[in-house]
Amino acid sequence: MAGLLIVLSAPSGAGKTTIIDYLIKNYPDEFCYSVSATTRKPRPGEINGCDYFFLSEEEFKKKIAHNEFIEWEIVHENYYGTLTSQVEPLLEAGKKIIFDIDVKGGLKIKAAYPSNSILIFITAPSIDVIVDRLRKRGTENDIEIKKRIARYAIELEQSKYFDFIVINETVEKAVDQIREIIRTYKKESGKITKREIN
Ligand code: 5GP
Repeated sequence: MAGLLIVLSAPSGAGKTTIIDYLIKNYPDEFCYSVSATTRKPRPGEINGCDYFFLSEEEFKKKIAHNEFIEWEIVHENYYGTLTSQVEPLLEAGKKIIFDIDVKGGLKIKAAYPSNSILIFITAPSIDVIVDRLRKRGTENDIEIKKRIARYAIELEQSKYFDFIVINETVEKAVDQIREIIRTYKKESGKITKREIN
């Protein structure tokens, strides 16, 4: 199994999706994306099988019962999970797989693949920048934004479990830092060496 699992977690509005889109679009031979399953309803423009596998709660629970997930979580009252059938073929093919999943999910990925996982936490320069980005995105109402901000403090606290923290000032700079992390990371008896990134 020669591939690499690169978990990118971030509070909503930190700019993670933009970074992932940039990585996949500009370096398609280097990176691929792990498509998660969810019971959340598709947002305008989202495509089944591309952004997520959109499942009913019944379908999702059936897959839990059949042990088809590497990890799954309830996030913002919806189910989200990483399917073994998505990840294993890509790992076998030696791909660098990008995971856009929450903090708890990221830790479970690392527990399942300790010697092949790099956990990178992305954050915005400040909470004001996050609120501003969420408002501009316009896909969440005020109640939804408040819920995500409440979760922000918890997620930030959990960033201590991550191997690296990247502060997203500009997408280009963040992407450069992520590629540099991947280029230079070191494995020592199955553990990723933690390094400071500025
Ligand atoms: P959204 O609904 O905005 O696409 O995602 C909401 C949250 O669910 C984000 O924090 C996202 O990273 C997380 N998420 C997406 N897919 C997965 C997954 O497969 N597993 C886990 N644990 N979290 C996920």
